[in-house]
Amino acid sequence: MLISTTRAFTFKCSPSSFKSFSWSHMDSKPKTVVQYAFMSSASRSPPREACVNDPGNGSISLQEWQGWGTTSSVPAMVTKIVEELKALETDIDAQMTFGGSGGKLQGYFKVQEDKKHRATYQALCDSEKKLQFFSARQIACRLLGSRGYLCQKCWLPLEDCMCSRVIACNLWHGMRFWLYMHPKDFLRQNNTGKLLWQVFGIEAATLCLYGIAEHEEIMWSTFKDAGKNNVCCLYPNKNAISKSVQDAFGQESSADQKCRLTMTNGDKTMNFILIDGTWSNSNAMFSRLKFASFT
Ligand SMILES: [Zn+2]
Repeated sequence: MLISTTRAFTFKCSPSSFKSFSWSHMDSKPKTVVQYAFMSSASRSPPREACVNDPGNGSISLQEWQGWGTTSSVPAMVTKIVEELKALETDIDAQMTFGGSGGKLQGYFKVQEDKKHRATYQALCDSEKKLQFFSARQIACRLLGSRGYLCQKCWLPLEDCMCSRVIACNLWHGMRFWLYMHPKDFLRQNNTGKLLWQVFGIEAATLCLYGIAEHEEIMWSTFKDAGKNNVCCLYPNKNAISKSVQDAFGQESSADQKCRLTMTNGDKTMNFILIDGTWSNSNAMFSRLKFASFT
């Protein structure tokens, strides 16, 4: 997101409770040079077993979980699914193997696990529980498949680690970013949202994973304390009219001016939500944000 400089940055006031900015997601655009570089390293990825750097029982420790850039406790459902994956290894006498850029399961284990998780998902009648299961399973697989293979900071294969090239800097104290990320983007090598907390730190740019209760509760609670006037959302909207930042601020409404006064004179932090997902996933994520803002 910080790398692509050609994207139009559009600005739009929304009638909803969130002020809404628009931006274009890179998945719908031609890949940048940096993305191609990431993809080429991913294509070299050999199949790998999940036991690399396994602390012994396969569980995800707090240190490991937070090492990937998260600030919460280890999500209970992720822990449960990791335990179930390890139990399945014993039950079917087959080891988990992963491959590709997304840390996807492969081989016989994948076939068996697919059957099992589909049955579990179907048996859940509550849509909220389905979402939480989907997200936790996706994240559990990514965590196990990326262990000892990806750098925890830059999410690139260890051999391609670019951490030494990232220059950290301070975000203005009156701002905080929330990267609301779809689980399918978590630990994806060509994800660029992770650069935000690499550059600004996890207090100024906080990761919130969609469907992970431990993350979303922290974010909802912060927004509730901040008040709706101090929460903005950058939303990927295909139909938004593109404006330069200069045009947008030159034609700002009284509501925007009030917002800017709050930002400069108030002692409250301005929270910016950045939705990190494909177009279709982002729609669902934005709907969840709007729903949460009214409850
Ligand atoms: Zn790195």
